[in-house]
Amino acid sequence: MDEVQLIKGTLQLTTKNVRDCMTPLERVFALEQATLLDADTLARIRQRGHSRIPVYDGTPDAMVGILLIKALVGHGGGGTDAAPVRVRDCPLRPLVVLDATYSLYDALHTFQTGKSHLAAIRDRGADGRDHVVGIVTMEDILEELLLAEIHDETDLDKLRHCCASPPPPGAAPAAGWC
Ligand code: ADP
Repeated sequence: MDEVQLIKGTLQLTTKNVRDCMTPLERVFALEQATLLDADTLARIRQRGHSRIPVYDGTPDAMVGILLIKALVGHGGGGTDAAPVRVRDCPLRPLVVLDATYSLYDALHTFQTGKSHLAAIRDRGADGRDHVVGIVTMEDILEELLLAEIHDETDLDKLRHCCASPPPPGAAPAAGWC
């Protein structure tokens, strides 16, 4: 990355808004609050690999909080002896909600305060009412700043698992890797 790119990315923080880089609701992995954290649910959580899971009441756009996967430790979320608990019995983090028109700069500032590194995005629907339409995380904003994808450890695990011939060290992943 060169300085010009970094400056471009920095300028974008004020011109782009969170709607431009959110993960839309239909692609969000969220859990209904009454879901039992049994072996099947834990397997789904593991498979998706996210560290924060929005929790909703009834329908996905009615988010009520965030389940941090690390909070599952000690809450029947992985032990073999303990009876499975429901999502709502785990400590949930309060949901931070941002308007879709919020700039990336303002969202970054909100994340800086430490309340959450995942926010729900709210937008006006055709019915004239506000609905949750997606989520944005700190990583989404940093990718806009750097104008590049950020891969974490679990992304690299998926790459190793899915690519027939993994790229050599330091090389860009092949197009279409899953
Ligand atoms: P994680 O490492 O927990 O997946 P990141 O903050 O690194 O979370 O985000 C990586 C990407 O995954 C971002 O595009 C973000 O919007 C998306 N993401 C994070 N959590 C979820 C989730 N629960 N469901 C769907 N996408 C998610």
